[in-house]
Amino acid sequence: MPNPGNPFLALAAPQIAGLTPYVPGKPLSELARELGISSAVKLASNENPLGCGEAAQAAYVDCAAELGRYPDGGAFALRRAIAEHHGVDAAQVTVGNGSNDVLDLVARTFLHPGVESVFSEHAFAVYPLATQAVGATARVAPARDFGHDLAAMAALVSERTRVVWIANPNNPTGTWLAAEPLRAFIAGLPAHALVVVDEAYFEYVTAPDYPDTSRWLADFPNLIVTRTFAKVYGLAALRVGYGLSHPDLAELLNRVRHPFNVNAPAQAAAIAALGDRAHVQRSVAHNRAEMARVTAGLEQLGIGCIPSVCNFVTADLGRPAGPVEQALLREGVICRPVGNYGLPNHLRISIGLAEENTRMLAALERVLTT
Ligand SMILES: *Cc1c(COP(=O)(O)O)cnc(C)c1O
Repeated sequence: MPNPGNPFLALAAPQIAGLTPYVPGKPLSELARELGISSAVKLASNENPLGCGEAAQAAYVDCAAELGRYPDGGAFALRRAIAEHHGVDAAQVTVGNGSNDVLDLVARTFLHPGVESVFSEHAFAVYPLATQAVGATARVAPARDFGHDLAAMAALVSERTRVVWIANPNNPTGTWLAAEPLRAFIAGLPAHALVVVDEAYFEYVTAPDYPDTSRWLADFPNLIVTRTFAKVYGLAALRVGYGLSHPDLAELLNRVRHPFNVNAPAQAAAIAALGDRAHVQRSVAHNRAEMARVTAGLEQLGIGCIPSVCNFVTADLGRPAGPVEQALLREGVICRPVGNYGLPNHLRISIGLAEENTRMLAALERVLTT
């Protein structure tokens, strides 16, 4: 809890006073502690309800005997596996403690007081946080249909712009950008403006004109693509993500990176997960089927959703979402209100197991009709 009279605030860097901490989804253990509900379902953090694959789990367990050793600080094997997966050079890979860590590395390497970053209204919360934490200025473009308005973003790019943040698709709206407009936007950026394309939900997107921007790296030396093992690969607990970029950019990011930011079991599990395409396919198929059922169920309750290509839907409740979220908690269902994203009437619901989704829909019906 922030303490407004915190005496150390005067000692902190000036930009820290205005910083609002990231609010994560409520953990199941916390609900159990607070409300005594032991069989809750968590649909609040866009986790893979199937968890990780067996190969990743086995690789993790295999590390148990070696926990006394520091991890490979250069993450040699993991970077090589990622490079092979994308057909790039290992020198283009920067590993992170989650992709959030990579976003933070970009901010700490290229942002500082006096320069600016550009992102969209309703965009992922880490962009304003990372920008503000290093004392840079955020320029926020208005959204269009809840998604990124690239023309509005381009209009905010100036000689002070160092980073443009794009979530494709975006969390918490589930909206996405097609290849052609995104490519034209990147091509139009000045050389001093880096562009981060955050593809945390890449594997879930099935739209034919959705781009794999890792294929554009050779064309755009100012492009940084980020991916994560936290979503479709089901390794959220281990915190592994990565950035792909021109090797000269990666070299600077790696100067700032803590050498052991990705621990040894995480490196091993991530390598195994990359090789387990069957688990990715299973997870994507599950998501597609349940997404259809959840959106249909919400529609039956008279609730519309922002069309989403991710593993979550953001529903317009037509009334403040906070009280609905609280009532759902008492029903043992954890969802995510997104008022802090400028969407006070929306509730973000992750796609869970079939029985979890059924329970969420039933709880929501009870909550909305009583
Ligand atoms: C979940 C998410 C991430 C990934 O965060 P990790 O640090 O890898 O867990 C990155 N960007 C967006 C938009 C996300 O929703």
